[in-house]
Amino acid sequence: MNKPLTYETWDEWEGIEVDETTADRGALAVLTWAYDQYKEKLVYACSFGIEGIVLIDFISKVNPTATIVFLDTNLHFQETYDLIDKVKKRYPSLQIRMQQPELSLQEQAATFGDELWKTDPNKCCEMRKIIPLRKALEPAIAWISGLRRDQSETRRHTNYFNRDDKFQKIKVCPLIHWTWKDIWRYVHKHDLPYNELHDKGYPSIGCAPCTSPAFNLDDLRSGRWSGTQKIECGLHEG
Ligand code: SF4
Repeated sequence: MNKPLTYETWDEWEGIEVDETTADRGALAVLTWAYDQYKEKLVYACSFGIEGIVLIDFISKVNPTATIVFLDTNLHFQETYDLIDKVKKRYPSLQIRMQQPELSLQEQAATFGDELWKTDPNKCCEMRKIIPLRKALEPAIAWISGLRRDQSETRRHTNYFNRDDKFQKIKVCPLIHWTWKDIWRYVHKHDLPYNELHDKGYPSIGCAPCTSPAFNLDDLRSGRWSGTQKIECGLHEG
């Protein structure tokens, strides 16, 4: 795991070898290597879902003053904001930043009409998630994401280090080999705080208007934008 990576190699990407047979399935080694390599130019964009909680715990061991960005669309459940407060108390040295969209909800409604998430959810995600993430990643070389291969068909080929053409960064995904059960075992073993909505049938939690309770082990993201063709907010699309 010593191949040096620089921003210049983004368009000439070559993967690196990681031992995934350890109890943490390579996650700690990947994070340690990535923080060592990219230092303050590595940003974690956390949704505070259950995978995010595991990653935060790992990151606090590897880099206790790491920067963590939350894309605050102003449309999250109160339970999500409550969880962020708990995480701040448990890991006081982490730098948790709430990245806001350019337009307030009122300004968005005045320009694009009420409840844009119903009329044009892609536009809504673009303005409230994708553009804010692009801004948050401006100074970064790489960003961390909690993607797991068994989350969905579109995530099955995710690697530890990925060339992210959309944001022109390197995307680091330490949890690719973790299963849903692995995640929960770790959370309970270490008594980590988590979103109360997980206990109410929400395996995947995003903005309140676009998230329903829908527990389906074969498709843990089925409660996101349910009843529409949309399956991703666009942060992880080509
Ligand atoms: Fe808008 Fe829904 Fe996307 Fe949130 S998830 S930004 S409410 S469309």
